[in-house]
Amino acid sequence: MNKNVDPCQETVREMVKTFAEKHMYPVSKELDEMPEPRKFPKDLYREIGKAGFIGYGMPKEYEGQGKSFLEYVTLVEELCYHDAAIGLLCSVGELATHPIINFGNDEQKKKYVADCATGRKIPSFVLTEPNAGSDASNCTTVAVDKGDHYLVNGEKIFIMHGDVTDLAVLFCKIEGKPKLSALIVDDTTQEGWQARTLKNKLGMRAATTGGIMIKDVKVPKENLLGEFGKGFRYAMGTLDSARIGVAAQGLGLAQRALDESVARAKERVAFGAPISKLQAIQWMIADMATRVEAARALCYKAAQMSDRGERFSVEAAMAKLYSTETANFCVDRAMQIWGGYGYIEEYSVIGKLYRDQRVLEIYEGTSEVQRLVIAGNIIGR
Ligand SMILES: Cc1cc2nc3c(=O)[nH]c(=O)nc-3n(C[C@H](O)[C@H](O)[C@H](O)COP(=O)(O)OP(=O)(O)OC[C@H]3O[C@@H](n4cnc5c(N)ncnc54)[C@H](O)[C@@H]3O)c2cc1C
Repeated sequence: MNKNVDPCQETVREMVKTFAEKHMYPVSKELDEMPEPRKFPKDLYREIGKAGFIGYGMPKEYEGQGKSFLEYVTLVEELCYHDAAIGLLCSVGELATHPIINFGNDEQKKKYVADCATGRKIPSFVLTEPNAGSDASNCTTVAVDKGDHYLVNGEKIFIMHGDVTDLAVLFCKIEGKPKLSALIVDDTTQEGWQARTLKNKLGMRAATTGGIMIKDVKVPKENLLGEFGKGFRYAMGTLDSARIGVAAQGLGLAQRALDESVARAKERVAFGAPISKLQAIQWMIADMATRVEAARALCYKAAQMSDRGERFSVEAAMAKLYSTETANFCVDRAMQIWGGYGYIEEYSVIGKLYRDQRVLEIYEGTSEVQRLVIAGNIIGR
């Protein structure tokens, strides 16, 4: 089946396949099975940056590749087909740089974007707190105005690459102002920035996740991102785009589960014939293939709307919701088709797919939050 809605996508798929064979498959298992405490794969991250993948959709003037959003989501889809956790490394770099590109001033863009686009710096998107996840506007991290700088205190949790970040886009309240603002923390070596790697993450293990205690962290005044009180808008604007990226992660994972299922069904013999001859198996594969196709259509539609400069919040929410639930469905069916050889990871990649996909329905807005966005738009609030 032709997956593409534009011929440019084929080039992306070929490019990622070559990259995956050289740089992903040789380290995939080792990164997934690394014992605690896990180490962020800095060399691989730099390799992904050097290949131009992190900055794939970023402006060329900041060392990005200037590609369309459709090409970017195809890149993520393909990376996640080969290894979703490694694909996530790339997605996080993009997510965290997005607010600087879209809401930063020229000086901030010049200072930070190129380093993020090329993997020389590891940026992070620092919003979630122990008591503010889905309800992100409830953040209590606070910055106090001290004249030429802010002094920030608070706690953040579940931050991708937060354990190793050297450039944090931090969402917090400025004392005396009720709404969220955003600050760029470019010195995470200061004593008050205490980051740790969260342990025993179920999946997506190559990309580490951090918790951060923030105690009297100094941020220069000029590092305010955009305008006071617009942080929540910036965060939600960033997540709108990022949700199409998560849809692409789900799509890659779902397609992999489907391909693994077809291959196994043709090869595994039971009752004297390949199990692909059994209608029970054929129906599972038909359901998977149909859902993958629908998820692909939603994902590419949202990406193309973004490329045309149209509003796409609802389409992004639909794409994320459907694609991530499709990944869950397909991986579950793949496990069924593989039987015991799916459940025991020494025999197949199905267990890893099972672990990796689960977070897609949680981060960057849970499935329930996507349904709220969709229903709110259709019914009205
Ligand atoms: C591996 C990982 C990586 C992450 N990366 C980042 C990152 O880089 N940066 C960052 O800032 N955050 C990150 N997050 C945080 C993530 O975005 C949050 O976990 C997510 O938004 C959900 O918040 P929560 O975990 O506090 O769950 P809660 O908000 O406590 O939700 C618990 C349950 O209640 C439901 N619920 C909550 N409110 C409603 C409602 N109004 N209606 C219906 N149901 C509702 C939720 O859908 C969920 O099922 C990451 C999380 C994980 C696990």
